[in-house]
Amino acid sequence: MTMLNDTHDPKRRSWVAAANSADCDFPIQNLPFGVFVRAGSAGQGGVAIGDQIVDLSAAMALFSGNALLAATAAAGPTLNKLMALGNAPASALRARLSDLLREGGPDDLRRIADRALVPMADVTMVLPAHTGAFTDFLTSSYHTERGGRVSRPDSPLPPCFKYLPVAYNSRASSLRASGANIVRPNGQWKHPDGQVRFGPSEALDFELEVGLFIGPGNDVGAPVPMSQVQDRMFGYCLLNDWSARDIQAWESALGPFLSKSLSTSISPWVITGEALAPFRAPAFPRAPDDPQPLPYLADAGDQASGHFDIVLEAFIRTPNMRAAGQPASRVTLTNFQHNYWTFAQMATHHMSNGCNLEPGDLLGSGTASGPTDDSRACLSEATERGKMPLVLNNGETRGWLRDGDEVIFTGRASRAGFVSIGFGVCAGMVEAAVAWPQ
Ligand code: MN
Repeated sequence: MTMLNDTHDPKRRSWVAAANSADCDFPIQNLPFGVFVRAGSAGQGGVAIGDQIVDLSAAMALFSGNALLAATAAAGPTLNKLMALGNAPASALRARLSDLLREGGPDDLRRIADRALVPMADVTMVLPAHTGAFTDFLTSSYHTERGGRVSRPDSPLPPCFKYLPVAYNSRASSLRASGANIVRPNGQWKHPDGQVRFGPSEALDFELEVGLFIGPGNDVGAPVPMSQVQDRMFGYCLLNDWSARDIQAWESALGPFLSKSLSTSISPWVITGEALAPFRAPAFPRAPDDPQPLPYLADAGDQASGHFDIVLEAFIRTPNMRAAGQPASRVTLTNFQHNYWTFAQMATHHMSNGCNLEPGDLLGSGTASGPTDDSRACLSEATERGKMPLVLNNGETRGWLRDGDEVIFTGRASRAGFVSIGFGVCAGMVEAAVAWPQ
């Protein structure tokens, strides 16, 4: 586990003024990596600070040693090479940038700020990595129980749920960075009238999740034990696993397929495990009669601090709200700690059969629902499969998402004695389905 160091010092402030406001997601204690695009240019690696981005290419002369190794690997159109290096080079770059960006530090970066700092408002953020494979887990017992009560009222959790982190192989090609619209899927399902038809989903939903980017991979046939998995875990983002519930209910003879592969949105900034170190938390407290993790998923350090205390929120902004200039309506307030398994257990389990993970691969945590009604982290739970529509703050109701609705996620980690850090937003708007037949 990452130890705390000078980069976490709560007294450290930046000469980038916006980084010092209490509600800023990107104070000097965060320094997440991302890929930005200027109009007409290719993607470039950068680091967020306040409302600015450090352009790593423009600042390259200020780095040496491991920090230079990391900055070189991160400067291109994806962060895969940086992720492949493991956490130590990224940590060296973080330490150097923290020093260059702090009040009272060396002024080398400040002197070239006019070309090495790029206002976020002037660029578009794109996917931070090329993701070869995306796996989505199902690790909140609260989410799984609410869903399972429909089909298995007596035993809503699958028998394996408390023994292994359940997952399915999802689709990497349809990952989208925050801001991209999501096209409502056409699909096949059994309608309430008993007929099986093909058409636009009538039960489009979001799932509020946290994503993990894999760092150095493993070879096929060479699993990585819990004791070594931390350095295979690079960083974290917010993730919206858009889900068409009508298609999902009909097709899932072998797990979900087209109901999930339509698109998945992620927030574009990769928050490193080091930035999140102050916000580590114990693994989910298992009930006395729950099974203990089998030895290959058990690790004392992971049990003590393998989880993260991250407040997660989901908002819906309808076309009417946009037209009237009203704020988005919050529909979920939850915490990542509600998930039953840690990311270290998910990654270890994923590799345990010899399956290889590669730098830039993405793991979704599963819908991060908690025990209370306001912490239900998808509409299927919050509206009891559309039957009990939510009332939004402008009086509109929603059972499922409508065309033009925007879904916005935020995430924030806080702890007394530390500076709070945020994830930025993961947002996407629903577009009307493609007309069919073509
Ligand atoms: Mn999901």
